[in-house]
Amino acid sequence: MRPLYHLLDPLWRRFPFPAGHTFESTAFEDATVLRMARTYRGREILPVYCYAVGDTLVDSGISSVADEVAAAARKARISRVVLTHHHEDHSGNAALLASRGAEVLATAPGVRLVAHDLPRRFYQHVLWGEADPVEAREVPAEIPLGRFTARVIPASGHSVDQLALHVPERGWLLSGDAFAAERVKVFRGDEDFYESCSTLERFLTLDFDALLCAHRPRFTGGKEAIRAKLAWLRELEGRVKESRGKGRSVRRIVRELGIEPSSAFFTITFGDVTTANLVRSILGGPKWRVEVARALASSG
Ligand SMILES: [Zn+2]
Repeated sequence: MRPLYHLLDPLWRRFPFPAGHTFESTAFEDATVLRMARTYRGREILPVYCYAVGDTLVDSGISSVADEVAAAARKARISRVVLTHHHEDHSGNAALLASRGAEVLATAPGVRLVAHDLPRRFYQHVLWGEADPVEAREVPAEIPLGRFTARVIPASGHSVDQLALHVPERGWLLSGDAFAAERVKVFRGDEDFYESCSTLERFLTLDFDALLCAHRPRFTGGKEAIRAKLAWLRELEGRVKESRGKGRSVRRIVRELGIEPSSAFFTITFGDVTTANLVRSILGGPKWRVEVARALASSG
């Protein structure tokens, strides 16, 4: 049976939400930092960051800020877009930039996922909007990033296709959504807890200070932030397993953890971004979205 959001997706596409947006371009060392967000009644929704270094743009932002991103890309003479993963707040302008001559790079599963026009849930339409499919090429192990060389670091967990870019000469880690916050309290239904921990452990073997995260960058002290997040996840894992050992249900464990946010943001996800998903991922692993599984199994 098709999930409900597959049936409703065409409807949300036809009637886009009346969002405003903000856009700002600043500099950090050799990078141009593009910060953007959708706004409702003047209030910003979670901001998204892309980073332009030399002729490479890391992630392409949200499609409602297409004009500003395209203008910034033109100014920086962007010829290559590296997607940290396929989610629409990262791939939102990839098709547009590809149509203007940029080459788009992603991991092997990422190439498959961005080639498909994946149905999105209601909250994804509200928060980020559309992301047209795009033809991408598999990213090599190293890519030039301005004057530097970036090493591609596998970073699955938040999504199956995620990568990070490590720039040792600069002490940067461009981490996509692998960080997001020190004390995460919610997971998407398809986030993999143990893969997320392995990714953070991998990050801790690298030398970096600036954590160029796609939502909450830490321009200094980035490695400590990763260490703190890993410690937090391990603490949650211990508490969840201890409660499960006492025979508690997922709902009871969530209550005992006492970390569940009550904001409207999480309510509109209709159960896709919750503390219960974090608990379930610890106890039984992620629940894959059907369209993602299908796209990964397809031949192209
Ligand atoms: Zn994401």
